[in-house]
Order: sequence, then structure tokens, then C-alpha cells
Amino acid sequence: SPRRSSVIVVGAGISGISAAKVLAENGIEDLVILEATDRIGGRIRKENFDGVCVELGAGWIAGVGGKEANPVWELAANLGLRTCFSDYSNARYNIYDRSGKIFPSGLAADSYKKAVESAMEKLRKLQANQAGELIEPTWCTPKTPIELAIDFILHDFEMAEVEPISTFVDFGEREFLVADERGYDYLLYKMAEEFLLTSEGKILDTRLKLNEVVREVQHSRNGVIVKTEDGRIYEANYVIMSASIGVLQSNLISFSPPLPRWKTEAIEKCAVMVYTKIFLKFPYKFWPCGPEKEFFIYAHERRGYYTFWQHMENAYPGSNTLVVTLTNGESKRVEAQSDEETMKEAMGVLRDMFGTDIPDATDILVPRWYTNRFQRGCYSDYPMISNNHEIQKIKAPVGRVFFTGEHTSERFSGYVHGAYLAGIETSQSVVEDIRLLKERETENQTFL
Ligand code: FAD
Repeated sequence: SPRRSSVIVVGAGISGISAAKVLAENGIEDLVILEATDRIGGRIRKENFDGVCVELGAGWIAGVGGKEANPVWELAANLGLRTCFSDYSNARYNIYDRSGKIFPSGLAADSYKKAVESAMEKLRKLQANQAGELIEPTWCTPKTPIELAIDFILHDFEMAEVEPISTFVDFGEREFLVADERGYDYLLYKMAEEFLLTSEGKILDTRLKLNEVVREVQHSRNGVIVKTEDGRIYEANYVIMSASIGVLQSNLISFSPPLPRWKTEAIEKCAVMVYTKIFLKFPYKFWPCGPEKEFFIYAHERRGYYTFWQHMENAYPGSNTLVVTLTNGESKRVEAQSDEETMKEAMGVLRDMFGTDIPDATDILVPRWYTNRFQRGCYSDYPMISNNHEIQKIKAPVGRVFFTGEHTSERFSGYVHGAYLAGIETSQSVVEDIRLLKERETENQTFL
């Protein structure tokens, strides 16, 4: 029979690693980390794109410069991770129409203001309706390309202008792009180094098991049995499950007995955001690179059609790289087609903006987070006026099965720091559970 450990952690993203670290710090060292892929990091993932280290997943440390310190910012600062300040606020003044003209800044600012006001009104009415006062909606839906582009930017990127988002309220409004050749995941390796055996940048510790796909979790009052795709069996007193909300919605992992209805319903209900950063490499720059030009917008009659662009000159000077971000429906569409098709579409958009004589891209990189069976999306997207009940249900343990990950963070879901703090919190609950159990055992023994 397999050796029984205290805790099995499923997943080696930042929440799984921070959870395991807290266990180790609390003297629980007989732990096992089961990770489906061949690397740690999960949604923090770098890749070499024609000589430049690009981040396919999390790219920014969001929430910097406020009263409280963002713990991920502190970790990054301690490691000297190279970062660049991102100023999104100028993007609205760099909106191109299909004929390559930039919308006059007055018109752009006006449209932006209207969109923010409309979104705020919508939010107020939703809140009023939730409180029982039924108010008929009066806001207008965006129709023109510029309205659609701004609606996309506002709702898929900059909601902070409409409602107070805890990340920016607590940690500050600034965002920094991680632009370090060692990658954002260097932060995770450094964290792992503190409690796992490592050598020359490699984790050698046998408690970390890569390429282990968990398919089944049997659980009872006494412990858990975890089965993997290769037929291996792991036993433990507890399991901490950090697989993404998209994975929990899929049928990759079965629970026996099944999770209770209140739990599965909450998991099903949670919307999952897909966010695709497409990288394009060029022989030379043909886009403006001066101050306040880092982000630019393409206004098309289809919402979210190659709308949001960034040049990488601030992050990696001389890299001649552009990034365009697609979300949700557009992400899924592009994931399903060939990269050549996507490159053709992107080039069409760039030629609209910058003219027909720009050079073809020499390379393209299209991450596929939605099709990836170990992710099934990018991050949880709780409704604007969620009252936390749903998150609490998703986070709540079921017997010896504890849950963690960005989707279990009440204040910072969707972010790296949310996942990091969630890992710490979940482990603290497990440590507390173990302590209480021991206390009860000693009480019983004294009694006997
Ligand atoms: P993950 O990192 O997903 O870790 C879970 C791990 O579980 C994975 O390694 C996975 O392989 C593994 N796993 C899954 N199923 C199984 C199984 N059956 N058996 C074993 N292992 C399994 N956040 C920011 O703060 N700033 C950003 O700029 C930002 N941008 C983002 C852009 C993109 C494209 C994406 C995808 C995410 C972005 N995020 C951003 C969100 C951030 O990356 C996540 O919130 C965070 O990394 C999630 O960490 P996690 O530990 O909860 O999950």
C-alpha cells in the first residue's frame, strides 16, 4: 500500500506552491505535490519568442503604490525582478479607425466618459434591483466602432474606473509589467527553493511529482486517496486542490463521494474569463514608439476584434514585437483556427491602421489557455456585484478536501497575489484542522 503523507497538494501554480510552503513552515514536511504538467508555475508561464522572454499567462503585478504593500510586488522587489510601469490611461487617445485615422482626443475622451457613466449607472441600477427596487434600465448599448472599442476596454480591462476593485483600493492603482529574462515564474522557483531541495535552478525534491494528472479523489472522514492518470495511488490525511475553476467545471477530476450540490452548483455558476495575448514579431518597427504610445486601440464594428494592442519597446527595446489581446468569444474562435489564419487576420488589422506597405510578421505565438485541459480558461470572473457567497462556497472544504487557487480569493480573485494569498490561507486552515484533531486526540487519551 502507498505510503501515507499528511497532505497532498494538487497543482504547482503559485497557490499550490505557497500552500505547500506554509505547510512546511508549520512542520508538515511529509507532503506531496502532484502537478499535471512538466513544470511549476501554472498560469505563470514564460516562453522564448525569437530570443525574447514573453509571458503567456500573468504579465503584470497589479496593485502597486498604495497604502498597503502587495505581497507579490514585495517578493518581486526582493528578487530584483525587472518590471516596467504600464500606463493604460493613454490608450484611449490612441484609437485608430479602419482607415488608419486616430480619433480626435476630444471625441475619444468624450466617448470614454460616456461609457464610464453608463457603466456606473448600470451598476447602480443592478444594485438597486438586487435590493428589491425594480428600476427599468435606460442605458444605451454601444453601437459605433469607437463605442464598441471603448466598451471592450472598459469591461475587459479597466473596470476599476467604474467600481472599486479591492486590488487597487488596497494596494494602489499602478500596474507593472514583468519584463525579466528569468521570467515571472522565477518568483515561484525562489519560493520553492525555500522548502524544496533544489540545485542550479532545478527542483530535485522527490516530493514534487511532475507529469502526474490527478483523475480521482476518494475522500472520507479519515483521509483521502488520490488516483492519477497513470494508475498511481497516493494516500494522505488531507488534500489541497488548486486546479483552476475551469478544470473543476470539466470532468477531469472526479470526487468520490461526489461533491455536495451546493458546491458543484457554485462551481458551475462561476464565469471563466479567457484572455489571449498574441505575440507578433516583425523585421522592424512601423508603429509609433514615443511617450504615451505603448498601448493602442483598433475600432472595428465587431466588439473585441483585435482591439487592444501593446508594443514591447518599453519592455524589450529592439525586440520589434507587438502584442494583441483577445478575450472570451474571440479567444475561443482564434484558439480553434490555425496560427496562419490568425496571423492573416492580425496583419489585415495592422494594415488598416498603419497602411498596406508594412512588412509581414515573421513569427506568431498564440497561447491556448481555453483548450488546455489543465486550465480551461484564464481566471474566474465573478459578477461585479457579487456578495461573496459564491466564492465562500467554492472555497469551503468538503471533509478532508480543501480548496485553494485564485478562484477562492474573496478579495483578489483573478490575480497572482489572490492565488498566492489563497494558498497561504488554505494551508493555515489545514494546519488549524490538524492542530484541533491532535488536541482532541490528546484529550481523549487523557480521558481514557
Ligand atoms: P494555476 O497557476 O492554474 O495552478 C494550478 C495548477 O494545477 C496548474 O499548474 C495545473 O497544471 C495544475 N493542474 C490542473 N489540473 C490538474 C490535475 N488534474 N492534476 C494535477 N495538476 C493539475 N494575474 C495577475 O495578477 N496579473 C496579470 O497580468 C494576469 N494576467 C493573466 C493573463 C493570462 C493569459 C492568464 C491565464 C492569467 C492571468 N492572470 C493574471 C491570473 C493569474 O495568472 C492567476 O490568477 C494565477 O496564476 C493562478 O494561480 P493558481 O495557483 O490559482 O492556479
